[in-house]
Amino acid sequence: MGISLNAHSNVRRRQARDEAAGWSSVDERERRIGRNETLFRQVNERLEEMNTGFEEITDAMALVCECGDLDCSQQIEMSHSDYEEIRSDPTLFAVKPGHETAGVEEFVRRAGGFDVVRKAAGLPTRLAEATHPRS
Ligand SMILES: [Zn+2]
Repeated sequence: MGISLNAHSNVRRRQARDEAAGWSSVDERERRIGRNETLFRQVNERLEEMNTGFEEITDAMALVCECGDLDCSQQIEMSHSDYEEIRSDPTLFAVKPGHETAGVEEFVRRAGGFDVVRKAAGLPTRLAEATHPRS
C-alpha cells in the first residue's frame, strides 16, 4: 500500500504547515477534514484503477478509509459495484464504522465492513462537490 502511505505523509506535512500558520477556525477545521477525505477519495480512485482486472475474480477491492483522520491507515473492502454506487454521488464517502466526523458528515447506512456517510450541507458538501473526481 505504498500509494496510500505516501498520500498520508504528504498531507500530514501540509497539515503541519497550516497549523504553523495559525489556521484554527471552525471553517478551517471543516476545510482540513474535507481536504483529507477528498484526498483519500482520490487515492481510492487510483486504487480502483489498479484493482481493475482482479475484481473479476474476487469482486472485492481493498481501499483506504475515507475518514478525516490523517492518522487513520485502516483499509476497507467492498465490491466494485458498491464502490461505483458510492462514487457516483459526490457527497458520499466510505469509512470504517465509527470513523464519521460529527458536524461534517452524517451516517447513511452500514454495509458490510464499512459505513457510508454523507457530507453535511454547506461547506463540507461544497468542498466534496468541487473535488469530485467523476465530474
Ligand atoms: Zn478512518
